[in-house]
Amino acid sequence: MEITKHLLMNLSLLLVLLFFTQLIMERQVKEESRQRLQIVYFIISIFTCYIFSVQVQDGVRFDLRQVPMILGSLYAGHSFLFAGITILMRSLLGFDDGFWISFFIFIVLAFLFKWMHPWFNRLAINQRVGVSILLTVMTSFVLMEMVGVISQPIRHPEAWLSFILIPALTTGLISYSIETIRQTLIIRQRLAKADKIEAVSHLSAAISHEIRNPLTTVKGFLQLLKEQDYPAEKKKEFIHIAVQELNRAEEVINDYLTFARPAFEKVEEIDIEKELNQVLNVLHPMANLNGVAVRKKFTSGLVIFGDPSKFQQAFINLIKNGLEAMPDGGELTVHTFRTGSVVHILVRDTGIGMTEEQIVRLGEPYYTTKGQQGTGLGMMVTFSIIRAMKGKAEIKSEVGKGSTFHIRFNHFEH
Ligand code: ADP
Ligand code: MG
Repeated sequence: MEITKHLLMNLSLLLVLLFFTQLIMERQVKEESRQRLQIVYFIISIFTCYIFSVQVQDGVRFDLRQVPMILGSLYAGHSFLFAGITILMRSLLGFDDGFWISFFIFIVLAFLFKWMHPWFNRLAINQRVGVSILLTVMTSFVLMEMVGVISQPIRHPEAWLSFILIPALTTGLISYSIETIRQTLIIRQRLAKADKIEAVSHLSAAISHEIRNPLTTVKGFLQLLKEQDYPAEKKKEFIHIAVQELNRAEEVINDYLTFARPAFEKVEEIDIEKELNQVLNVLHPMANLNGVAVRKKFTSGLVIFGDPSKFQQAFINLIKNGLEAMPDGGELTVHTFRTGSVVHILVRDTGIGMTEEQIVRLGEPYYTTKGQQGTGLGMMVTFSIIRAMKGKAEIKSEVGKGSTFHIRFNHFEH
């Protein structure tokens, strides 16, 4: 039983080593470092096998050294490196019969594996595991026979059984694990790629959404100018706002092209009253169209810190939703106040309202109840801007009655 115990101990050590190699492998991003790590694993495995080898008879030692040598050559290539190390290690134990057996067999194997390596890597997963096991059984068998020829034949049936079975089992377990690890890595790389593609497509959809708001405004003003002859002063004002909107659209495009994620480029003091007034100006045509009365309850002097153009974008999306929720008219209230160091902004509409489920899904990309009219990106953008400015949003809504968005920011102090 001594031999079996030793070989099983070899087996568990190799598996423990593999486990830790896998843990380190997880952190490697570069393919080359993973390959290098794999080579190191096999070298340490060969070393470990020697340390825990068992003497069967004079000059003959048993261990699982052939397993890392075979798998290393097949999976990592470099068969001469692994054969060389295996022989070198064996020489440390003396130049006895066992050494010459090892020397001869591993040199032959090195040539064989060098030749097999490209073919082996083209095989299917199961075939690779099978071929590895088969080669291990054959090597173990030849090793045993050689011992019989050069030294004395091994008579224990147990020695034969365990020296054929345990290496085969070890090879099977390790090559199966290596295949699984490889497979997981490939899947993960594929997922990462899909994620990137997804982000890019979100981004482009978001850009068109962001651009649509200013374009709608400009269109509204142009229509107003077409329908009626306004006094020169009024015309000037309309054109001024339209140009401002186009500038903002340009800025939005630049922002999105420069930064993949909403990063804040221009971080400065934001005068809440000024910015919200501008937002309501922008949405004025739309409110008129829907027959919505806008009520402002502003507290002056509220200042927060962030990017004003992003702030506007967040509230345009938010208030636009409120207006869209009141197609047959209603009232939109924007209320700002301060408690301690917290700035509160409340946006309330008397529109169609939302169910619990709708509230939960709010901000989910592409979640819209507006069919072709909606993109389902507005609230996603709004929430990400509020989050980036360290704000919090709370939503209350009742179907048929209306919705309230309560946003909190930290007040900016000098
Ligand atoms: P979109 O406006 O393009 O549909 P949003 O992300 O802006 O996308 O909004 C997602 C969904 O949330 C809307 O389709 C709507 O069902 C719901 N919603 C958002 N705000 C309100 C609101 N004030 N009143 C009622 N429903 C709203
Ligand atoms: Mg919207």
